[in-house]
Amino acid sequence: MTEPRQLPVPAPGRVAAERFVATHLDGLYCESTAKTSASGRHFDRSVEPESSLNGVVSSQSIRGGQRAANAALDNLDLRGYAANRNNAYPVSTRAASGLSPYIRHGMIDLPRLWAATETQLQAGVDEHDVVRFQTEILWQEYSRHSYAANPHPAGRRQVDNVGRVDQKKLDFNHPAWDASMGCLELAAQELEDDGWLVGLTRMWLASDWVNRQGRHWRDGEDYFFAHLLDGSRAANRAGWAIVSGRAGREPYLYSRWDVELRAPGLCASCDRVNDCPVERPYDDVLLRNRVRADQPVAETTRRPADAGPETHGSLGHRQEIDYSNGYGGPMYPERPYGSETLPSAVWITAESMGDADPALAANPELPVIFVFDRPLLKRLQLSSKRLVFLTETLADLATRRDTRIWLGSPKEVLTDVETSVTWTPVPGWRRLARKVRPVETHPWPWLHQPLSSADLGRIIDQITADTSVRGFEVGLAAGFSKWCERVAGMSPEHAATTAIPTVIGDMTPAGKVS
Ligand SMILES: Cc1cc2nc3c(=O)[nH]c(=O)nc-3n(C[C@H](O)[C@H](O)[C@H](O)COP(=O)(O)OP(=O)(O)OC[C@H]3O[C@@H](n4cnc5c(N)ncnc54)[C@H](O)[C@@H]3O)c2cc1C
Repeated sequence: MTEPRQLPVPAPGRVAAERFVATHLDGLYCESTAKTSASGRHFDRSVEPESSLNGVVSSQSIRGGQRAANAALDNLDLRGYAANRNNAYPVSTRAASGLSPYIRHGMIDLPRLWAATETQLQAGVDEHDVVRFQTEILWQEYSRHSYAANPHPAGRRQVDNVGRVDQKKLDFNHPAWDASMGCLELAAQELEDDGWLVGLTRMWLASDWVNRQGRHWRDGEDYFFAHLLDGSRAANRAGWAIVSGRAGREPYLYSRWDVELRAPGLCASCDRVNDCPVERPYDDVLLRNRVRADQPVAETTRRPADAGPETHGSLGHRQEIDYSNGYGGPMYPERPYGSETLPSAVWITAESMGDADPALAANPELPVIFVFDRPLLKRLQLSSKRLVFLTETLADLATRRDTRIWLGSPKEVLTDVETSVTWTPVPGWRRLARKVRPVETHPWPWLHQPLSSADLGRIIDQITADTSVRGFEVGLAAGFSKWCERVAGMSPEHAATTAIPTVIGDMTPAGKVS
């Protein structure tokens, strides 16, 4: 096993961050081994792959760091958001905020983002635009709650919603999308070059992957997770569940109708303009799903008679959920292991790297430790774009705080350090924290604290019981409006009208295209 080692702190900026990743993290990102991009091109690297850069790429347009996050938030302008948030191309017509990488890594927490939306309202931005944006923020919060409560998805070998067991495996060396289709190629290119996409083009890629190609959603989720700067298990998994139809609605089948509406002009320049594979939605997928919807309860979702004690989980793969203490972590700073010792350092994680991280803010004099988790990164093989983004963030933080960067196993680096840390709604962190035993844990900055009495699992249970289909993901879409009502405190009328349509409400209804 390789010994942990402390790494030098890079100077701020993209170039230094790229060099840092190439020098210290080689072998821990996917571009060091993959030769071909998802769209079939050779990697179009932002910097030519000099041997000294070991294939490192960085996002073309998104820079890491609290300063960049603050600038992006200062530029938030929600005018026209409701109508245009799904606009894909030309880029100048987009209304999406592009804040997600900063939200994902805790440089903008959701309470702060919510406050910024109130400011927009006071500045005269149309309430319809602001409420629409707020609903999307709630989706982010909801997906975090549901992931925290139920982190394990359905098994890889499980029969998926379109009725097949997919054997194709994720392979970074083979094209994932049909590059002859202009819409897919452009979206795949943006995913790889920028590490960020508007929600709609994520849905195009995901729909093509899971519904048209019949690949397994988990492999697609992994691909997105590797390339997105905002890649999170929570929102990513919810997105794939919605698109594939596992979340209790019809699958989203993207079509030329969407592309012409949200990317005008793109089809005219596409090689397949007269031979468009998505001219109509995929009739066979719709048919399969209709057939399945007519069946009372799919075999895979039935609870076997000898299944043992009742637990809660995804279709065909049930796990324990701890309802006893809720799943939101502490509400106040605590000393989880009863230690009397004061912390000597703040441990920050990729979930929470902002200046306002509660542990960081509570200990302004302490040094900060970040560990690039070598075993985890070796397994995940993320894109170097994400590693550059994280490095830029650390270099920026180091201009304000004594920041120490390590490479190795966090357990080994941190076992003998008295750390203060922010509780994180991610199972991997919780496992790690049990080994690291921080002396002080600060609450996660929820927008709405999960409550054990209004527990998400119970909400989902109720919904799935209503439809006599057991399983967590099945209730995801319908669960949102209940969650808005019971956890986020919305009125039932507001929850019913605003919440449900938000995910795919303004997408192509399948019937409209045919
Ligand atoms: C297949 C698929 C995978 C996705 N993977 C991720 C992911 O890994 N990480 C991630 O943060 N989002 C993911 N999303 C959700 C959404 O597409 C992105 O949050 C959004 O596109 C980010 O861009 P933005 O910040 O400009 O969003 P805006 O439209 O400006 O919205 C502002 C914020 O609201 C939240 N938000 C908006 N839409 C959603 C949504 N559908 N679900 C959850 N939160 C939302 C995000 O925090 C976003 O930053 C995924 C969606 C799909 C369909």
